Amino acid sequence: MYMATKLDGSALAKKVKAEVKEQVAALKELGKETQLAVVLVGEEPASQIYVNFKHKDAKEVNIVSKNIRLPEETSQEELDRLIDSLNEDEEIDGILVQLPLPKHLDEEKITQRIDPSKDVDAFHPYNVGLLARNLVGMPPCTPAGIMRFFEEYDIDLRGKHVVVVGRSNIVGRPIALMLLNADATVTVCHSKTKNVSAFTKEADILISAIGKANFFGAEDVKEGAVVVDVGMNTDEAGKLVGDIDYAAVEPKASFITPVPGGVGPMTRAQLMLNTVYASKLHYERQNAKA
Ligand code: NAP
Repeated sequence: MYMATKLDGSALAKKVKAEVKEQVAALKELGKETQLAVVLVGEEPASQIYVNFKHKDAKEVNIVSKNIRLPEETSQEELDRLIDSLNEDEEIDGILVQLPLPKHLDEEKITQRIDPSKDVDAFHPYNVGLLARNLVGMPPCTPAGIMRFFEEYDIDLRGKHVVVVGRSNIVGRPIALMLLNADATVTVCHSKTKNVSAFTKEADILISAIGKANFFGAEDVKEGAVVVDVGMNTDEAGKLVGDIDYAAVEPKASFITPVPGGVGPMTRAQLMLNTVYASKLHYERQNAKA
């Protein structure tokens, strides 16, 4: 029986934010302020919470965050124009449009309108393409946060069988690409996969991003597996839980992320890292022009 090492996202996120803060300060010394524009359309309560976290994180690392709140009835044309002006604004390094957008707005169109060098969520097809080609670009936040766990806890990926459950554009697909780029052997499961458990049981590393409370138990996991739980769900008691039944799986795993305090804080920290990455890129570009 294993006693899993907890992959402590809260502690690691603190370390990442300290690194960001240093990089922000170094740029400031050179006269470059790092700025993030966070755009929220409408008043969806969960989105407001996420946006507030982003401003709080930015403040902690001395990134200047611009709070742009637009009414629910904002038109596509108005939002397009706002994105254009943020793209052109040399002081803005990162643009984040909080999703989901109200139904009458075209999310894909907005995602593609953001200048890829300011695309701190890394959802633009240009950045997705760089990742698919194993080239350096802006990495998507949740997958990059997960990769940092592996790096920090010396978890070797080369030749390991990683099973990713979920194939969304924000988690499943990009993490599968990153793992492939890191020489892992990757299996991706989704809702049409027959007998998902037959795959997860074979995984050296299991990553679940399905959004179903306590979906995987001890019987779905191999002895000694590394288990990464991306899910953020509420159980019947209203408690925040992951896709993995932590109490059941923890004794069988070698490493496991808790929920809360695992992938979530790393996603938030990575957004700050992406913003300072963009800031460096812009500083270098502006200097090359001068
Ligand atoms: P999503 O867009 O809803 O995608 C869910 C994926 O899981 C889909 O690919 C779906 O398959 C698959 N799936 C659903 N039920 C399944 C099942 N029973 N067996 C196998 N596959 C199944 O979700 P997402 O945006 O990727 O998010 C997933 C979860 O992670 C959510 O709980 C979300 O809140 C959480 N999340 C957390 C963070 C964080 O920072 N901690 C960040 C992002 C997301 P199909 O493609 O066939 O529909």
